[in-house]
Amino acid sequence: MSLNLTVQQVFCWSIQLTVQQDYQALTYKFLDILDEITWIDNSAIYEIYHHERKKTGETKTVPELLIKRFPLDFTRNYEEEDHNSLFAELDHSTDLHLSPPDESGLHAWAIFSIRGSCGPERAIHLEGAFNRKMIELLNNLREMYRNLVILHDTKERDVLTKLPNRQSLDARLLQVCEHYSDYQIIDKSEEKSSWIAILDIDHFKRVNDDFGHLYGDEVLLIFSQLMEKCFRYNDFLFRFGGEEFVVILNLASQETAIAAFNRFRDVVANYTFPNVGRITVSVGLTHVDGRSMPTTQLDHADKALYYAKDNGRNRVVLYEDISIFTDDNDLSEIELF
Ligand code: GH3
Ligand code: MG
Ligand code: MG
Repeated sequence: MSLNLTVQQVFCWSIQLTVQQDYQALTYKFLDILDEITWIDNSAIYEIYHHERKKTGETKTVPELLIKRFPLDFTRNYEEEDHNSLFAELDHSTDLHLSPPDESGLHAWAIFSIRGSCGPERAIHLEGAFNRKMIELLNNLREMYRNLVILHDTKERDVLTKLPNRQSLDARLLQVCEHYSDYQIIDKSEEKSSWIAILDIDHFKRVNDDFGHLYGDEVLLIFSQLMEKCFRYNDFLFRFGGEEFVVILNLASQETAIAAFNRFRDVVANYTFPNVGRITVSVGLTHVDGRSMPTTQLDHADKALYYAKDNGRNRVVLYEDISIFTDDNDLSEIELF
């Protein structure tokens, strides 16, 4: 591909990128465009999360990078994959990193950072043999992609916690359900199931009433950070609205899923929130399958949550434990309470 792009080519890329309706579709298209460029050998996009983690037995927190490669395949366990070596040494004050030039002045790799959105930092990692003009062109493409990422993040993420919002949940849950309609889970004790849970802070209204909305907001923010620390790399986290959050927990058996939510419930119950002190959370969860509508599954998680609220709060309830199955599995008709 010539480096002197035609006006036609630039318009074509702009139209292809700007027509995309969400961050996922945009990023798939952007990777397609990078693929079309013959002098790029390899391209990858990563999401980079900066966490503070306390090591067991230590009081000081250490900064930790959590790096997810796009697209996240929730059916595979990546935990052993380590992208950290690629990014750990990077200077976060600059947006472009180049490998040292070879004797002809060409760079074997380039990393372009995407910052400034309400989502995580992203990085585009490209391999090839790049001269200055190529880097300039890639930089312009990055700028276009970055502007669109910022727009999509504004639409798809919650401003306070920066977690994906309700709208992103709908799209993601549909994707997870579609996966299971192709791959039927026979045995739910299997490690490869997905679970959807609604997490609702108990008596949150009191927090606002007693301490004010600002402290209420701080609790919501810290709560979301605890979620990010407690759940795993390939789980999906959302702010559903208000003091309600959703987790799609992947690659877990029923026992592991319940244990994971109980562990999180304990973490919250034992955390001292600034000024506010202790709070608790109730969780309703259900198994994700490919047969029911995503809305039905959310409704099941919600019923389990209400059961938890009605039975003392600060607990985890599995919908399947409180429902009665009929032959045709039409659970929507069953009066639970
Ligand atoms: P329950 O244990 O039954 O869940 O009781 P609750 O008080 O948590 O539930 P309720 O639905 O009665 O109240 C939720 C409160 O959450 C009411 C609303 O003021 C507060 N809230 C919702 N969104 C926000 C927000 O963004 N910031 C703050 N500070 N408060 C919020
Ligand atoms: Mg609520
Ligand atoms: Mg509540």
